[in-house]
Amino acid sequence: MDELVALCKRRGFIFQSNEIYGGLQGVYDYGPLGVELKNNLKNSWWKSIVYNRDDVEGIDTSILTHPDVLKYSGHEDTFTDPLVDCKSCGLRFREDQIPEQCIGEELTEPREFNLMFKTNVGPVVDDSSHAYLRPETAQQIYINFKNIVDSTSRSLPFGIAQIGKSFRNEITPRNFIFRVREFEQMELEFFVSPGEDEAWHKKWIENRVKWWVTQGIPNEKLKLLEVTGKDLAHYSKSTVDIMYSFPHGMEELEGIANRTDFDLGSHTKNQKDLKINAKVMDNKDSNTRLAIQNQDKEWIVPYVIEPSAGVDRGVLAVINEAFTIENLEENKKRTVLRFKKHLSPIKAAVIPLKRNNDDLVSLAHSVKSSLQKYQIGRVVVENTGNIGKSYRKHDEIGTPLCITIDFDSLDSNTITIRDRDSMRQTTISIDNVQQYFLDYYSNESA
Ligand code: ATP
Repeated sequence: MDELVALCKRRGFIFQSNEIYGGLQGVYDYGPLGVELKNNLKNSWWKSIVYNRDDVEGIDTSILTHPDVLKYSGHEDTFTDPLVDCKSCGLRFREDQIPEQCIGEELTEPREFNLMFKTNVGPVVDDSSHAYLRPETAQQIYINFKNIVDSTSRSLPFGIAQIGKSFRNEITPRNFIFRVREFEQMELEFFVSPGEDEAWHKKWIENRVKWWVTQGIPNEKLKLLEVTGKDLAHYSKSTVDIMYSFPHGMEELEGIANRTDFDLGSHTKNQKDLKINAKVMDNKDSNTRLAIQNQDKEWIVPYVIEPSAGVDRGVLAVINEAFTIENLEENKKRTVLRFKKHLSPIKAAVIPLKRNNDDLVSLAHSVKSSLQKYQIGRVVVENTGNIGKSYRKHDEIGTPLCITIDFDSLDSNTITIRDRDSMRQTTISIDNVQQYFLDYYSNESA
């Protein structure tokens, strides 16, 4: 993990947030390469969940959330972790995450600590103006259910997908971007008829594992864990977590829950007129019926299957898998990020042999523009004048193709393309470079 963190900072993937003022714990910034990697991962999810299917719509909802949403969802009462203090050193932590220095010391009785961030909306700061930063993106999807059904004429089964920020005041943020206070989620709420929920739950578990494999996570590093007992959320009939072997241990990458009719049932008006199976709080505030008519024109409250993945945990997992140190001849080492090509932050680096030769540099810029126009991802000109150093840098940040412009490019119209993984170099005519680039990026799976 330490090597990963150092590489992420050195090369501009991820920085500690607010660092010049001492940093804010549990908050990170994504640098020039980090933002590309993160966007590529999110785009791949969106393609797989929205574009490649015919039964899912997208949405982008507000982060600021009305307190009633989180009252009826149960978050105000139950979104808590047990907090304890060490009587010897005064440190505060989660009861199930005792730091090494406090093991064996006397601890206070655990008390429940709510993880939601509260804020105020408008110029008056009192209880009447309070709102929350959402702790998950899902709730705003449920409360938009009728808007989506009315505007798209969807019938069951169908889903609503969202990618966005969530906030949790974690008691002990740790393990780099694994457990943070501000993070992004990729969530799908998939609405099905009661009775079809278990079959859909299974399908989504299989679908999601396959997707992680296409991101470069080997199947054998993933495990499915059936959540049981007190770890099972109050709304869930069954939850399966996709666990991944992170550098610090086997932990949750994504959760896939069968949330029954709890969510729509909690937020709907006229609860008594609908046959809601889940145990929900009496709702006197909602002004909307969150139900749908089945083929017999009966109003039913759909069940929800929810695959919910963390973007930041995904980024950590794909960097961890890509990170390789290879032994070369003469005791030399090569650090390579072997990202799947659709995830690589830079798609190609165009490198003029000499930085102060106008003809080479200008040709490099024109090759870059000819590739950039396809908008497959970022293409850069690497104008350091040192080919060896440029290759090392682009290996370390996972650039699949390095394209060298040398004097043969000027004299005989050829360029050399070096492949990141095999380090093989191929010389082709400049006229064919666009086709080479397009072919290279067209045969990818994600
Ligand atoms: P954990 O048990 O690890 O705290 P959780 O079960 O509370 O996670 P969910 O509420 O199921 O997590 O959230 C769905 C996904 O959001 C998780 O699988 C994870 O990838 C991501 N996630 C949740 N909390 C955090 C966090 N504090 N930092 C980063 N990602 C998070």
